[in-house]
Amino acid sequence: MPKVIEWRDAREGELVWRYPVDEIAWGDNLIVHEYEAAVFFRDGKAYDVFRAGRHVLTTANLPLITKVLSTIAGFDRIPFRASIVFISLKQFLGRFGAQGQTKELAPLKFYGSFWFRVEDPNLFVNEVVGGQSLYTTEGLQSFLRGYFNERLIDTLSQYSLAEVYGKLDETSLLTKGFLYEALSRIGLELIDLKFEGIDTTPEWRDRIFYLSTGIGATEVLRMETVQRAAESLSKSPGAAVGAGIAVIPPLFQQPPQAQPMIQCPRCGFQNPGSSRFCGNCGGQLQPVAGGVTCTNCGHLNPQGARFCMECGRPLTQTLKCPSCGSDVQRGAKFCPNCGAKLSQN
Ligand SMILES: [Zn+2]
Ligand SMILES: [Zn+2]
Ligand SMILES: [Zn+2]
Repeated sequence: MPKVIEWRDAREGELVWRYPVDEIAWGDNLIVHEYEAAVFFRDGKAYDVFRAGRHVLTTANLPLITKVLSTIAGFDRIPFRASIVFISLKQFLGRFGAQGQTKELAPLKFYGSFWFRVEDPNLFVNEVVGGQSLYTTEGLQSFLRGYFNERLIDTLSQYSLAEVYGKLDETSLLTKGFLYEALSRIGLELIDLKFEGIDTTPEWRDRIFYLSTGIGATEVLRMETVQRAAESLSKSPGAAVGAGIAVIPPLFQQPPQAQPMIQCPRCGFQNPGSSRFCGNCGGQLQPVAGGVTCTNCGHLNPQGARFCMECGRPLTQTLKCPSCGSDVQRGAKFCPNCGAKLSQN
């Protein structure tokens, strides 16, 4: 009696599931649902990948495993050992947040979110799931968070503090390019990346504040020695909010009052209004009024929605460049990768 191998009752948000039985018989039925892939994994290596459909396992549709087994006499009549790892191909939200430093060694604390999906299931299982023995979604998410943070720390260390703050949109586009490459090396596609908060120490914050007003760097350094500067700064817009580390509005062009803050119900930390998770403790924040307006039908969707509740269009902030195919922030006039002119839609 051939068995049916299937990821039953996959929960929303689950990225991976390993079929609990390692003994597979020829003739077993493998059912792969929409937005899933099933990867055969054996002795630390990923082999054949099955896409959506119902598959009766034979030597014909398992050519890679068959090649490995073919040294065993009569292998095609006896069961064999392999793990079957199911991977969800849906979009997932990952969180990042870490402390790094800029090119001039200014301390930088940042956090935000990124959207990704598995693009190459075989590579992903080889490099991450099987390679690291991470068969739970929690384990994977924490691995990906660490992986992402490390690369982001590397990338941000190539920019000055002024670049990070003054050109935050551009910076996130540039870092996105690096991270896109890094994720594709482990079989993932980076769909979007959003910084929700970037902080530094008060000293560096003061420096960047003066630089943004057009005062030269030399002058800023001279002024820093003056006590009066420190006093006036403590009363200036954008200065410390709440206790602990200050959150700076992303762009100085925006009046600080326009940046609504949201207090974490768990730890009291003041987060930028657009945050969904606390930058201090990671707790979930109350959704704020507003949300995402669909560019297609104008429907107002809740914060964090990925697809419009009314018309189903994706609400993502990125577009594909028609010329080179790289992800571009919606509203950009030119592709940062190839320079092609982009139409505004
Ligand atoms: Zn908190
Ligand atoms: Zn819509
Ligand atoms: Zn392009």
